[in-house]
Amino acid sequence: MANSHTDSLGELKHFKTAVLDKGILLAGFDYFGKPVNVLNVESMSEWQKIVWYAEQSAVINGVVLVSVKEGNFCAGADLEQMHDAQRHHSFQEMEQLVITAHKLFDEMERSPKPFVAAVEGACLGGGLELAMACHVRMASTHPRTCFALPEVKLGILPGFGGTQRLPRLIGLPAALDMITTGKTVFPRQALRMGLVEGMVTSIPSTVRTLERIQNETLVQAAIAQARALCSTPLRRPPLRASLRFLSGPGIRTLLCRYARRQVIKRVRHFYPAPLCAIDAVGRGMGLSILEGSLTVEKPLLLDLMASPVSSHLVSLFLAGEKVKRSIATVPTAAARIGVLGAGLMGSQIAGQLTEKGYEVVLRDVSSDILAKAVGRIQKAQTAQVRKRIILPSDLRYRMMRVAPTVYVKDVSSVPLVIEAVSEKLDVKRAVLAEFESEAHPDAIFATNTSSYTLADIAVKAVHPERCVGLHFFNPVAKMQLVEVVRASFTSDRALAQACSLAKRLGKFPLVVNDGPGFLVNRILSRYLVEAVIMVGEGISFQRIDTVAKNFGMAVDSGHPMGPLELLDLIGLPVALHVLTSLAVLGSRIESRDALLRNLLPENSPPVTFWKLEKENPQALDAVANYRRANPSETGPISDDILHQRLFLPMVDEAVRCLHDKIVEHPWQVDFALTYGIGFPAFRGGLLTWARQTMTKEQISQELESLATKYGKRFESCPGLSSGGW
Ligand code: NAD
Repeated sequence: MANSHTDSLGELKHFKTAVLDKGILLAGFDYFGKPVNVLNVESMSEWQKIVWYAEQSAVINGVVLVSVKEGNFCAGADLEQMHDAQRHHSFQEMEQLVITAHKLFDEMERSPKPFVAAVEGACLGGGLELAMACHVRMASTHPRTCFALPEVKLGILPGFGGTQRLPRLIGLPAALDMITTGKTVFPRQALRMGLVEGMVTSIPSTVRTLERIQNETLVQAAIAQARALCSTPLRRPPLRASLRFLSGPGIRTLLCRYARRQVIKRVRHFYPAPLCAIDAVGRGMGLSILEGSLTVEKPLLLDLMASPVSSHLVSLFLAGEKVKRSIATVPTAAARIGVLGAGLMGSQIAGQLTEKGYEVVLRDVSSDILAKAVGRIQKAQTAQVRKRIILPSDLRYRMMRVAPTVYVKDVSSVPLVIEAVSEKLDVKRAVLAEFESEAHPDAIFATNTSSYTLADIAVKAVHPERCVGLHFFNPVAKMQLVEVVRASFTSDRALAQACSLAKRLGKFPLVVNDGPGFLVNRILSRYLVEAVIMVGEGISFQRIDTVAKNFGMAVDSGHPMGPLELLDLIGLPVALHVLTSLAVLGSRIESRDALLRNLLPENSPPVTFWKLEKENPQALDAVANYRRANPSETGPISDDILHQRLFLPMVDEAVRCLHDKIVEHPWQVDFALTYGIGFPAFRGGLLTWARQTMTKEQISQELESLATKYGKRFESCPGLSSGGW
């Protein structure tokens, strides 16, 4: 095999190249100085050089594009560059980049020489748009291989021709679905829908050089494809007749209208990007790809890029990157993890662990409970088989990695346990003592408690330095935030192990200092408590939840939700327990036990506020009983006041958390509340929203006037009007 370097391309910083037998140019994307490949002015101009070189060179017959990075084909456009443009309100460079991409991708597509993308790892946004401009895409079955156009999640639309090429490749209905939701597609799904032409089981080389990569099965298959295409005229295979029919002008309008309705149902009118993307798809279908890209997609993209919504979403995204980058991790992470408690949380955590390749020792007090937990894990994993994300054999391997047990000694050899037993202090302390008696002195104990402090739990620990908090949110698979709790006695090693584990589970490990409710539940408690107090005043459930939903609470999950529905989801016993424990913070947490206890009848399940999407008559009765015993008269109240009563105390509590050094920076609060409780991302986070809507003095004054009218719980902390948040 010939393997000469392509000297006439000159020095490239972000690509490695080699010319192989039969004139195949192998281009290995390896963005210099970043862990993933990104498309920006620099990398795009180098790719342009490669494309032009391939087109002009008589010795090159085709190009295979691969990634030298492990587990990442290309993450898409460089968001730091875009964020800079948004901060400086200067979009000329971005516009130029977009025009270059459109023209270049069009040239690739029209080139008589084949371009083949060998995709291993995440192929996202601009990365997928680049792959779509190739004539053929081959995917590996590597667990990190996936495809998505997630631009709408950043408040923009796929702007390198994605809105034009995807419907032509996979048909209009599937393209609208992928583009408007930003959802991820895995290799088997991609093959089925025609997003890739081939799928190969391939083992990535551990040494990431172009020479080694070209021996991988995936790259060999892509090279073979390119060679085969050199000798046959290039023609994009037409869409299936049924899909062509759905792209016709009349049907297209109907499908786009349906897609709009779906978007509005999911995210209301809070997010303009998916609606603009539908426009770009619908209008572009009647034009050529290049024309549609330049005259429809580009102007819409630039408008969206300049919007505050996109700027907020990009800031939050970059905050997530900062969270992942800033934590200390360990070079060799544990491969076996113990989970103590196989209830609601323990079974979900065990499911996530086995999914990511960990062996799990799952311990509970009875085999009945364990059997149910294993059943729940199996059910969740089976759903992935049904969706073709994994194979039945993967499911079997995952289930084989879970070892249920009733014996504590079975966790004696694991280097880290996650404690998710019942939220009772004496039980948690007893479980820690039991663990300490069996485990190695350096094994780590990570508690998932939601209402006790780490200091409370570890008060009698022999080795408190190994105690750390790993506070997951429910549902574990969906919620990306994990609070990693550090007490004064937590060792750096324990913290780093916990952070590494959370990161390997694909979560954002936000390090917070120990304190009641840590960061998220402490702030959330103010919101939930106020909603309960309003219920006690006789304000309808509907009205309370509607005010929150109109603000956008939980809209990003696709299911807007008010505080009472959230209380139903958390479960009243847990919520009551958390609110009661947080009363230690001071009189501002009025837990309204008397009202909530009315909703917890003995020997039967708790009464929920909502039942089958209607106010639950049983809950209405319970509230009426409470009101007869505790009459209160607050007079008419506007939605504006309800809104202030729900959200301003959260701002006050967030500032108190900063003062108490639970976290250091306001952006950490914004990030945590967005990813932990569904504060609407389009508002940029709790403190960003507060700063941009009112002055600090106004917030303070509003709270003082609420305090005068509704009680001392609204009195604001001194840092609110004077602090540097
Ligand atoms: P759960 O009641 O569903 O499960 C607790 C499990 O612990 C039960 O299966 C119980 O049998 C088991 N258990 C009790 N004593 C044990 C012992 N000595 N050894 C082993 N297992 C024992 O509770 P959950 O909702 O899963 O909560 C578990 C923990 O997670 C709590 O600390 C809770 O505060 C926290 N948490 C809960 C949520 C939530 O939404 N429910 C969210 C975040 C954190």
